[in-house]
Amino acid sequence: MRKSLIAKRLTVSGLALTMWLLPLAVAGQTRIVTPKNKYKVQDDIKLGNDAAKQVEQQFPILNDADATRYLERVGNRLVAAIPPEYQQPAFDYRFKLVNASDINAFALPGGPMFVDRGMIQAARNEGEMAGVMAHEISHVALRHATAQATKQNSVGNQLGVIGMILGGAILGGQAGAELGAAGAMAWMTKYSREYETQADVLGARIMANAGYDPHDLANMFKTIAAQGGSRSPEWLSDHPDPGNRYNNINHEATLLNISRNPIKITRDFERIKARLQSMPPARTMAEIQKNAPAGQANGTSTTGRGSYSNNIPFPSSRMRSYSNGGNVTMNVPTNWQEFPGTNDVQFAPEGAYGDQGITRGVMAGYYQGQNAGLLRETQDYVGQLLQGNSYLSQRGGYSRAYISGRQGYSTTLSGRSPITNRTEIVTVYTTLFNDGLFYFITVVPSDESSAYSSAFRSMMSSVRLAN
Ligand SMILES: [Zn+2]
Repeated sequence: MRKSLIAKRLTVSGLALTMWLLPLAVAGQTRIVTPKNKYKVQDDIKLGNDAAKQVEQQFPILNDADATRYLERVGNRLVAAIPPEYQQPAFDYRFKLVNASDINAFALPGGPMFVDRGMIQAARNEGEMAGVMAHEISHVALRHATAQATKQNSVGNQLGVIGMILGGAILGGQAGAELGAAGAMAWMTKYSREYETQADVLGARIMANAGYDPHDLANMFKTIAAQGGSRSPEWLSDHPDPGNRYNNINHEATLLNISRNPIKITRDFERIKARLQSMPPARTMAEIQKNAPAGQANGTSTTGRGSYSNNIPFPSSRMRSYSNGGNVTMNVPTNWQEFPGTNDVQFAPEGAYGDQGITRGVMAGYYQGQNAGLLRETQDYVGQLLQGNSYLSQRGGYSRAYISGRQGYSTTLSGRSPITNRTEIVTVYTTLFNDGLFYFITVVPSDESSAYSSAFRSMMSSVRLAN
């Protein structure tokens, strides 16, 4: 079975209706409190460098010297305008163009930034382009990725997977979700309202310092909406209402010292835009990912590198211990492989994993729902599993179960697996954990279930959840 894919649709459809909302009155510039972060600055740098390598392997970098130099000029001007209290001398801000048509830009921890060609082509002036870049630079300067990891205490391999996640996260939006980068996307859209607001506020300040008009960051929302919002980028995530953000940025602008003659249309901007427009049309990120080799399309799992077999060793009775590096530990048969994801981990023996998920093994992870209580959350989660694995159906209802001494539920799903062509039994266990659900799922063909039951039982009883 496949992991369930939880996708949030990004939308700007509410934009036109909400733009008239009055801004809140705030006295003085909005204060930005740098969020709590348990990671070192060096962690940000390493994560960003690792992820940047992946991004450069997976996406076509547009090696046009003229356009890249221009992007660097704008980027460096913005970086020099970061207020001193948010500067990190060790960070290495650098800028590359991706030959994709999306109106998107993306920055990795520690400074690597990728700007899609489509973003420059969509912007109506240099200020709009610089606005998106200033917003992304602000996420980096405020170290939001590792702050987020600090907050989430995520059930993946913590830092080890963040790089992969961010590598996949460049694929925001519905396209990313369809391609299985949903984990990555969920991660990014979980940038809280607070972080988005911070990046807008600091971004506006950076723009003003750099000689731009911060209103142009707000204007980019209109530009995107005008060009069909379905390809909305990360910075226009559905978290904070885009209408409110438009107003809030414009309000922030009234608190700032803006040049009387801000940088708007520049000769360089016009020239580079024309140059990009004259090139053959770029594909979308989604199209690029679709043609990527198997396994790469899913930024959060490596099971895609396996191949399925009928001859699979039974689970070893010897166990090793697994820890996510934080709050989850359990025992795992020594002959099973481990596949960490964004907020989950999968274990499966050789021959039982591949690009369509696992045929035998265990998936465990964290699901952040709506805080609706154990049963409701469990029903939601199981609903998503069924949606992602249409051959399965639920057998019976929910029974009481215990995980790590906590009350929970279990339920059984089954159906004919398209991979093995045999009946697959999937048992889902859930309990409340960190304002969400912890789930533990066993997967096995029904005619082999007796050979796996002892391994499943000892894994399940070894699970320890902290806090
Ligand atoms: Zn953002």
